[in-house]
Amino acid sequence: MNKVYDLIIIGAGPAGITAGIYASRQKMNTLFITKDFGGQEGKKAVDIENYPGFKKITGPDLIKKLKEHLESQEVLVERDGVVNVEKKGDKFLVKTANKKKFESYTVIIASGADPRPLEVPGEKEFVGKGISYCAICDGPLFRDKTVAVVGGGNSGFESAIFLSNYVKKIYILEYGSEVKADKENQNLVEKTGKTEIITNAKLERVEGDKFVKSITYKDLKTKEDKELEVDGVFVEIGCQPATAFVKGLVLFNERDEIIVEYETCQTKAEGLYAVGDCNAGKFKQIITAAGEGAKAALAAYGYLQEIK
Ligand SMILES: Cc1cc2nc3c(=O)[nH]c(=O)nc-3n(C[C@H](O)[C@H](O)[C@H](O)COP(=O)(O)OP(=O)(O)OC[C@H]3O[C@@H](n4cnc5c(N)ncnc54)[C@H](O)[C@@H]3O)c2cc1C
Repeated sequence: MNKVYDLIIIGAGPAGITAGIYASRQKMNTLFITKDFGGQEGKKAVDIENYPGFKKITGPDLIKKLKEHLESQEVLVERDGVVNVEKKGDKFLVKTANKKKFESYTVIIASGADPRPLEVPGEKEFVGKGISYCAICDGPLFRDKTVAVVGGGNSGFESAIFLSNYVKKIYILEYGSEVKADKENQNLVEKTGKTEIITNAKLERVEGDKFVKSITYKDLKTKEDKELEVDGVFVEIGCQPATAFVKGLVLFNERDEIIVEYETCQTKAEGLYAVGDCNAGKFKQIITAAGEGAKAALAAYGYLQEIK
């Protein structure tokens, strides 16, 4: 562990890859530590239609292009999961699941967040075939269809409001006896005239053939199983940012997202940045993640000039 890197980037989704491209161009001596290449987009089955420059591109294809761009620069990649980051003086010590240790002057956390899964039968089978975790991304594919939104919080209601521009009917399923969305969102949902809210509903399974055809939920009041014919299921039961390994060094909001400065994406700790879906930014999109990656890499370069 003698070598001290200028920068360690944790995670190789759009945020981390973009940070890597920018860092390389500044000739920063950079190490990537990542569990995979691509993050959420690498697994996305339906097309991306909102990344500038590409009217329509699959997630894996976009990631392939980003990765090729990164690999045209000088990068070092360590396939591993980070389990801890500490600050020792002006350096960071990064520990991995494979019990390796690396040191650097700056760190960019780009570890993203995963949507909390439904964990019901049929979920894995129908991801990308009717099950979606991103209404903004996939909603337009359900024009004139009937869909269910699972989750009656603000994000479920906001997804329903967005989906109402496309679909003909929306069921919102809420586990509790009352929805948790605020009044304003409730009013907006009501105004769509397309939405039916079902409370006390515990989703049991998703079924179909090539695509989703129906869902079954348990009515927690009557204990009866009830079936709804739907073409799509939007999962809105929360996200889990991958930020546990940096506890103690940074500030979090109530969702465990890292709080950063707007200008540079710097966290509470100097030289430590958090970009993309793992930070407290409101909009979780590829373009915002990539933009923040660029911003943080340039900020890390500036900081390095000051301390070296
Ligand atoms: C189904 C779905 C569809 C979507 N569709 C669109 C769309 O059409 N358009 C759009 O703009 N956005 C879309 N999004 C949102 C978009 O995918 C995210 O905003 C974007 O991927 C965030 O990028 P990121 O780099 O911050 O994180 P991620 O893509 O989540 O990447 C995180 C990276 O960090 C790595 N990692 C995590 N923990 C560790 C660790 N401890 N150690 C090392 N590495 C770690 C992961 O392996 C991964 O490489 C969609 C999201 C989903 C789930």
